[in-house]
Amino acid sequence: MKIELKGHSFEDAVRQILQLFFDINSEFDVITELDIEENIYIAKAKITLGTKQAEGEIKERFSSPDKRQISDLIKKSVFFACRKLSDMPAPWGISTGIRPAKTARMMLDEDKNDSEILRYMQEEFFITPQKAQLSLDVAKKEFGLLKNRVENGVGLYIGIPFCPTRCSYCSFISQATAHNQKFVQPYVEALLKEIEETARMAEDLGFKAETIYFGGGTPTTLSPENLNILIKKVKKSFDVSSLKEFTVEAGRPDTFSDEMLGVLAENKVNRISINPQTMNQKTLDRIGRKHSVEETIRAFEMTKKYDCFSINADLIAGLPGESIEDFQRTVSDVCELSPHAVTVHTMYLKRAARLIDDFEKLRFADNMDKMVQYSYDFLTEKGYNPYYMYKQKNTLGNLENVGFSFEGYESLYNIYIMEEIQTILAMGGGASTKMVKGDRIERVFNPKEAADYINRIDEIIDKKRKALEFLR
Ligand code: SF4
Repeated sequence: MKIELKGHSFEDAVRQILQLFFDINSEFDVITELDIEENIYIAKAKITLGTKQAEGEIKERFSSPDKRQISDLIKKSVFFACRKLSDMPAPWGISTGIRPAKTARMMLDEDKNDSEILRYMQEEFFITPQKAQLSLDVAKKEFGLLKNRVENGVGLYIGIPFCPTRCSYCSFISQATAHNQKFVQPYVEALLKEIEETARMAEDLGFKAETIYFGGGTPTTLSPENLNILIKKVKKSFDVSSLKEFTVEAGRPDTFSDEMLGVLAENKVNRISINPQTMNQKTLDRIGRKHSVEETIRAFEMTKKYDCFSINADLIAGLPGESIEDFQRTVSDVCELSPHAVTVHTMYLKRAARLIDDFEKLRFADNMDKMVQYSYDFLTEKGYNPYYMYKQKNTLGNLENVGFSFEGYESLYNIYIMEEIQTILAMGGGASTKMVKGDRIERVFNPKEAADYINRIDEIIDKKRKALEFLR
C-alpha cells in the first residue's frame, strides 16, 4: 500500500478510515490532498485498487480550524472514496475512537437536546441513526451515574492472570493454571506485597476506594483460601468506607464452587461476572473453553441462591463457526437465566482479517453488524438498557462492545474506566494503573508474565511510587 499526502500530514487519519474497509496489506495506492482557498478547506482522496479507482471530495468553511477538524475533513474525503469501492458496513462512519459515547455525553454537558445530538453525530461523523441512538442512550445513563462520584474516590483493580485453559482467541497473556501451578503461590505473595504498598501510597494521597474489580484471567481459578486472603488484604489495607461496588470476575463456569461463593459473600462482593460467551457446546469445544453449557447453567443456579450478588453475563458475537442463528439462540438462552446485566463483545477480527479473502471479510463484518444489532433489539425489548460501550481500535467493521443492564445494575467501574474520569490503581500482572488529574492522564504498566511480575515486584512497586507523584 502506498499513501501519498499532499498539503497535510494526517497519515494516521487516512489509515484509520482505510482499515474500516480493507486489509491494510492490500495492494492499493492512495493520494490525499488538502487545498485551502480563502477560508474554504477542500480535501480530496483518490484510491486505486487493482483496476478499480474511486475519488472522494469534501469542502468546508472554517475560520481557524483546529487539528481535529482538519483530520476529520481528510477522513471524510477518504471515507467517500472507500464507500464507492467497498460494501463493508461502516456504521460508525468516520468515528474511529474507542469511546463512541463521549461526543454525546459532552453535548449533554452542554445542554444540547436529543435531536441536536443525533443530527450532529449523523451529519458530522456519518454514524448511522441506530448507532447514534445507542451512543445517546449510553451517554444519558453515564450522565446520571457520573454525578454521584465519591470525592477523592478511586477504582482498585486486582489482576489474576490465570485461567483453567487458554481460549483460542485470547489476547491477554493469561496462563493456563495446569501448566503454571508453580507460579500461583509466589504470585499471590508478590501481589499481597503490591497491595500493601499501593494502599500506603493511596492513604498518603487521601484516596478512598469507590469500586474494586478482581479481573484477569479468571480470579476464581485461585483456591477459595487464596482468594479470601487477597480480598481481606485489600479491604484491610485500603480505605473502603465509601465502597459502592465490588466485582469479581468468575468468568469460567467450571471454577464455581459453594466454598468460593461463600468466600465472596462473606467478603461482601456484590457483583459477579459469569461469562458463558456462547451457549453452543460445539463452539465452546472449538474455542478451547473446556466447560459445558450445563456448567454455565449450574453456575447461575448456584450464584442465585445468594441474594447478595448481581450477575453480569459476558457474550461474544462472531465466535469462529457461529451463525447469526447460533448467536441469537445464545442471547435468548442467557436471558432465560435472568442475569442483571449482559455484556456483548464483538470478536476481535484483526488477526482473522489477514487470513480470509475479501468476500469472507465482508460476510464476517456484515454478520457481526447484524448480530450486534440483534442483541441491542432483543435485550432492550427485555428491559435491559445499554449503559457503557467501547470499541476496539483498527478492527474490521469497527464494531462496538456494549454493556446492558437492568435499571440500577450498571457497573460503575466499567463506566469510570471508560470515561477516564477517575484514577484506577491497578495491581498484579498485566495491570495498568491510570492516573487522572484534571484533563491529564498518565499510565504505568506492570509486566504481563507472572514469572516476570514475581521476580520484579520490588522494582514494580518503586516504579509505581514514582509515577504516583504525578497526582500530587
Ligand atoms: S477466559 Fe479470558 S483471559 Fe482466560 S484464556 Fe479465555 S479469553 Fe483469555
